[in-house]
Order: sequence, then C-alpha cells, then structure tokens
Amino acid sequence: MSLPALEELEALAGARVLARLDLNVPVGGGEVLDDTRITAALPSLRWLLERAEVVAACSHLGKAKGRPEPAFSLAPVAEALASALGRPVRFVADCLDPARADAARGELLLLENLRFHAGEQANDPGFAERLAAPFSHYVNDAFGTAHRAHASVVAAAARYPRGRRAAGRLMASEVAALGRLVDAPEQPFVAVVGGAKISTKTAPLAALLGRVSTLLIGGGMANTFLLARGLEVGRSLVEADMVDTAREVLATAAARGVEVVLPADVVVTDTIEDPHRVEVVPSDRIPAGLSVVDIGPRARARCAAALGAARTVFWNGPMGVFESEAFAAGTLAVAAALAACPGFTVVGGGESVMAVRQAGLIDRIGHVSTGGGASLAFLAGEELPAVAVLAG
Ligand code: ADP
Ligand code: MG
Repeated sequence: MSLPALEELEALAGARVLARLDLNVPVGGGEVLDDTRITAALPSLRWLLERAEVVAACSHLGKAKGRPEPAFSLAPVAEALASALGRPVRFVADCLDPARADAARGELLLLENLRFHAGEQANDPGFAERLAAPFSHYVNDAFGTAHRAHASVVAAAARYPRGRRAAGRLMASEVAALGRLVDAPEQPFVAVVGGAKISTKTAPLAALLGRVSTLLIGGGMANTFLLARGLEVGRSLVEADMVDTAREVLATAAARGVEVVLPADVVVTDTIEDPHRVEVVPSDRIPAGLSVVDIGPRARARCAAALGAARTVFWNGPMGVFESEAFAAGTLAVAAALAACPGFTVVGGGESVMAVRQAGLIDRIGHVSTGGGASLAFLAGEELPAVAVLAG
C-alpha cells in the first residue's frame, strides 16, 4: 500500500494545512495525564510548521456525543502541545469558527474537539466541507482513528487530490510497521495476546492464526480458553458466551499447525483489591473460590523461551491485572522478553504499551503502536477507511 508522504505535498509555501491528529489523550483536572500521543504528533507538526503558511491541528477527544461538553475540551491539550513544541498554540474554541485558519506565522492553531459536532462521527459530507473549506492541503496523522469512517478522516480527506493530501509521519510508520506483520512476516512469528476479554479481539486472533507459528495466550482471556479445554477456573473473569469461539480458535490453530500455548500455571487470589491469599497453582488445579490474576513462573519462562527464538513478535494485552504490583510479574516478564528479543517486535494496545513504558523498556521495542483498535483492525486484515482514502 502506498500512502502519499509529506514530501509529496505540492506548493507548500503559502499553504493552509488542516492536520488531523490523534490528540485523544487522557485528561483529568484540566491537565493532560499522558502525553504519548502529543509526542507522537510532533514530527509531522514540526515538518509542516517549518514549511506551510498556516497549520491547524484538529482531533477528537473522549466520547463526546455531537455537542460541546467541557470535560472533553481540547483546551488542556493546547497548553501541553505548546510546551512540547516550544511554540505558541492558539486554541480555537469551535472547529468551525470562521477564524480557524487565521494564524500568525510560526503559530499553531488547535481546533476544539471535532466530536462537538454530530457531523464528525456521521461522516457527514456537509460538515467535512465546512471544516475543510479554508484549507488548501490536508494531512492525516491520526492512525488511532483510521479504522473509523468519520468526517475528518474520510469525507474531508476525499476532497483533496494527490499532491494536496498526505499521510503524516506517525500514520506512515504505523502502516509500514504493521504491514511487516501482515505481508510475509519473518518466521518464526510469535504472537502474545492477553488483556481482559476475547470478545474485543476475535477478528485479529483469527487473522493471526494465518500468519504466526506460535500463539501465547495470557490475561483474562486465557481463562475462557482454559474452560474451552475443559479445565475449571474458579471465580476468574470469564466470558461464558465465548467458550465456543475459543474452541474454534483452538481447532483452527490445530488444523493449521499453529502451536497455541495456554499458561501452564497461574497466580490466583481471593480478591484483587485487598488480597489475603495469593498462590501459584497449575492451571488444572485452580481452586473453586479463587480468581486467576496473572500467569505463573512456568508460563513466564515458556513465553521468554518462545520470544527468545522469534524473528517477529506481536504483543497485545497484559498477562494479568498488572495495575496491581502483586499481579504484574507475568506482564513485566513478557515486556522484558520482548525487549531482549533480537527479532522485529511490535507492541499494541493501551494497557500493554503502558506496561512496557512502566518497565522502562519502551526504547527497546521495534515499534510501539499508538492505535489500539486501529492496529487490531489492520492486523485482522480489515481495510481502514482513513488509510484507503489517503491511498486512494
Ligand atoms: P490492551 O489495552 O493492551 O489492548 P485490554 O484493554 O484488552 O489490553 O486489557 C487490559 C486489562 O486486562 C487490564 O486492565 C488488566 O487488568 C486486565 N486483565 C488482564 N488479565 C486479567 C485477569 N486475569 N483477570 C481480570 N482482568 C485482567
Ligand atoms: Mg485497553
């Protein structure tokens, strides 16, 4: 897939650029709590600010529902962006404000949350037209939103011909890195999948079975797989309605010769919040009254061995309730094994990336994907609407 790069933008001197970014960061008490996505947007922004006349950044934030809600304002992001860029950022309190393309040179404009207008999520062409009208060029660097057909990433992008639209640096690097997992990945390709639930990840799981040699399963979703293998999981988090799906995954894997590794042992506890009992037990001896909250030491060693021999690795979803230090060992072990792996490694998913960051290992990962849902959709082989329009 060939996406137009920033360098393909024509006549940038005098250009007014609308830059769709993913600035959907966690905000609390009027402050940005995690600036990962702001940092990720800087390379494209800097490149554009050095060349174009006007750069206006836009994004959504949170689950705003088509009308202004102060809790979802991008105003705190304007401040964080200004200090990250070391340039003035002027906040425009409505993304359709008539002055949304009036900037002093060197100043970045940041438009208020696109989702304050219902037209954004409806992919309304009228809204896209109004949003984009003052801008001569369009850049999409919002990989995290690429799986959604929304106005700012689809209808707006479609207004611009080649030479006037481009993928930003982040979008380009995500598509290139994830592409290496989809198009002839170097073998052995090992996937480690965990997190809370299977139900949010069935399509990528099925797609991965067509490419990987080994699939290691941990986290809450492993419980449902243990059930599918006929084991008891006590009071663990399970998805009873997903047991059949888990069985199908196991059957498909067996038919394709993919090795599926469930944890041989697990950490169990009485309560997550206030644990009195914490034990390691084999997966076929999980006590009836306890819950599985992490993979055990044997399972960690098995992961490390598989990752040590891998040429390509994809990891999504923590191995346990890593937010509690007592149940973080499995997730940290996978993070360490990934960092030590000499192959091409990719981590995706909000919580998994957070765990790698907490472990201080983020710089030792080949590619850290910023787009949870978008990266899973890409891996599942789905066409991402925003990427398709850009490639057009
Ligand atoms: P990601 O954001 O990396 O894709 P998910 O959102 O799928 O991951 O899942 C992350 C959550 O899964 C974490 O908050 C973690 O506490 C939870 N989790 C992992 N293992 C278990 C388990 N055994 N029981 C309950 N929750 C779990
Ligand atoms: Mg998550």
